[in-house]
Amino acid sequence: MNNLSSEDILRIRRDFPILERTVFNRPLVYLDNTATTETPRQVVEAIDDMYFAHKANVHRGVHTLSQEATAMMESTRKLIAGFINAPASEQIIFTRGTTESINLVAASFGSTLSCGDEIILSVMEHHSNIVPWQLIAEKKGLIIKVIPMAADGELDMDAYRALLTPRTKVVAVTHVSNVLGTVNPVSEIIAEAHRHGAVALIDGAQAIAHTSVDVQALDADFYVFSSHKMYGPCGVGILYGKRALLEAMPPYQGGGEMIKTVSFEKTVYADLPFKFEAGTPDFVDIAAFNAAISYISAIGLDAIAAHEEKLLAYTTPRLLEIPGLRIYGNAPHKSAIISFLIGDAHHYDTGLLLDKLGIAVRTGHHCAQPLMHALGITGTVRASFAVYNTIAECDTFIAATRRVAAMLS
Ligand code: PMP
Repeated sequence: MNNLSSEDILRIRRDFPILERTVFNRPLVYLDNTATTETPRQVVEAIDDMYFAHKANVHRGVHTLSQEATAMMESTRKLIAGFINAPASEQIIFTRGTTESINLVAASFGSTLSCGDEIILSVMEHHSNIVPWQLIAEKKGLIIKVIPMAADGELDMDAYRALLTPRTKVVAVTHVSNVLGTVNPVSEIIAEAHRHGAVALIDGAQAIAHTSVDVQALDADFYVFSSHKMYGPCGVGILYGKRALLEAMPPYQGGGEMIKTVSFEKTVYADLPFKFEAGTPDFVDIAAFNAAISYISAIGLDAIAAHEEKLLAYTTPRLLEIPGLRIYGNAPHKSAIISFLIGDAHHYDTGLLLDKLGIAVRTGHHCAQPLMHALGITGTVRASFAVYNTIAECDTFIAATRRVAAMLS
């Protein structure tokens, strides 16, 4: 599909029964897609199908159901490898989410680092790309450095280059800011990291459902994301890693599924990807994740991106006409995320009043307290768009925000 028409969007909306809900007797306008996207019927039916027809534990059964469940889970792995152009499906590790993927890399790759080694993060990271690094930094005596940003919300690339030293071992940066919408120049960030012998982890949580990602073209060492932010089930995350790095890294957790042989004297670990998948995986949701990726692919990421860009370009200037409203994050290349405040109004009050008008936005620090500190605020109101949002919903949101602004002024 190219250039989604309003009929296409209405057809897509029919796949999402939740969008027919009302909130306080008003049609729901769901603009909290950054936190999680809604789930289409096709994915929920795939979950049902797993529970009703194929549920059996994976990877260790000779019986038919177990083989079916295993094949369905493994077919998702292959589909994801293709979706991000990974060289091989063994380089796709299933986790519980972006957070667990980063914890895995920080704990496992981080354990190979030495006291005084340096990790570079950016000021706009989600807590899940800060705290795991702090945990390993404390344990190993690592030094964390932070890339600052310019006023419009773009990373300061000169400052980044100045932070790189021969001791830099990891650069971990978000592809798209979950607060500002900034699309970071990750190719350049990765290339600079490599020039200094460091590996680069890219947090793709906010990019993966909105832009096509080619991990080989990016030359990313690690790329991580969550299913629930891409119309898929909750509880599934992805870690992509370069084979040589994953093979050299120690396991993250021990248990069943991640071993070749166990004795009390010596355990031999399984090959990739199973070395990093201890215990029973969430095979039901992993299998159903397949339907979400197929759903996105059938529409086309370019078409999704173009539609979301249209919503952003429509909404931004109209919101700015509201007296006292200011937007945080004005990078020239930004995703369809609008963080704002109105005058002195508290973000919670704005969010609560918008909810009463049927509009779901997120308020608070968005798990990015260091960014809030840099901006000199405690939080924002954040509206974020997905493929099923319409221009009519943007109009409802703009009118409601105008009304709330008047009430709070
Ligand atoms: N990174 C970014 C940029 C995010 O937006 C989020 C979710 N808000 C995460 C990481 C964490 O994702 P999850 O909660 O699915 O692990």
